[in-house]
Amino acid sequence: MTFVSAEQVKSMIQGREAEVLERCAGIPEEVLDGKNHPCPKCGGKDRFRYINQEEGTVFCNQCFNEKNHGPISAVMHYRGLTYPAALELIARELNSPEPFQQHQPTGSEEPATKKVTDKKYEMKTTFTPIYDTSGGPKLMRKSCFSVGKKPFGFDLVWNGYSYTFKADSDSKSKVKKHTIYEYTDGFGEPLYLVYRMDMQDGKKLPYLFHWQNGVYISGKPEEDERVPFNAPTLKECEHVFIVEGEKCAVALQWWLDKTRQENDDIEAVTCFLGGSGQFLPKYADWFLDKDVLIFPDNDEPGYKYARCGAEVLSPVVRRLRIFKWPEGTPEKWDIADEIKEKGESSRVLQGLAGLRSAYNANPARNFSQNEKPP
Ligand SMILES: [Zn+2]
Repeated sequence: MTFVSAEQVKSMIQGREAEVLERCAGIPEEVLDGKNHPCPKCGGKDRFRYINQEEGTVFCNQCFNEKNHGPISAVMHYRGLTYPAALELIARELNSPEPFQQHQPTGSEEPATKKVTDKKYEMKTTFTPIYDTSGGPKLMRKSCFSVGKKPFGFDLVWNGYSYTFKADSDSKSKVKKHTIYEYTDGFGEPLYLVYRMDMQDGKKLPYLFHWQNGVYISGKPEEDERVPFNAPTLKECEHVFIVEGEKCAVALQWWLDKTRQENDDIEAVTCFLGGSGQFLPKYADWFLDKDVLIFPDNDEPGYKYARCGAEVLSPVVRRLRIFKWPEGTPEKWDIADEIKEKGESSRVLQGLAGLRSAYNANPARNFSQNEKPP
């Protein structure tokens, strides 16, 4: 055992607080974003937060609400270590003294310097799409890189609508389900994706990645890159359903595909990044002359979303309707719930089938699969 003083370790940590929390305290980078999350030690829904990035302080209102200042105490608490053992672990992980020398701020102690050194440590996650022989989506490979560690990762598999992780069904992890919803342009070229983790306790953690230099990296897409979800299908369909989130889009698209008769029109289901209140005027271009049905969630933000969409779209579409859930439908109910909970017996879904036979009966407007533009 090499001797390291507390002072030495403290200066090693300078500018590498997040790295210590992730590598030494074992706190996943996903919860180090300053937002509320389940606690990595005692669980819950939103009791944990990275409250001070400069100091590297995390907080849990159940198990870590006092003596929680700085990353050393986090390592002690989340690893169950004594103070000397935590120092030893941190010193070992940060591989002193060489990296310490490189990371030492030069002369100035301004916060700006700290931010720069902070950037030297990044646990980077990327996603890379892998296509099948005909150029269609096949896998999305998740790769994680971090200083001094072997890269690791896993593949999520395309299921026709989204990417999912096969091992989720028998996992004992805190993450119940991993899903990737990819936004491409009308030709299927990558733009951005939502990586969503559904936790065992019901919490949903969505992360945004955008396309840069042949790979998806963490971060929001620029506003001018934004497109409706499912753009390649949307581009080719006359009949369009707008729902409030990717989960609903995928569920309804699946249902429509499953129940479509051979000569029926293809319908597209779409939604927009961010759900309610994110209806950008530029989206209107995608809906020129289309027959649109907006399917909001059954709550006030849902109907607001629908009205906002109607305002943007009504000048360009051929027809626009807003679906209203029947009396007695539970608050926040959505089309994914309807499909999952009621399926064939759903009056709403039977209603959709009626709608479909009405437009399919009009041959002038028919737009069958075989008449698709090249
Ligand atoms: Zn806790």
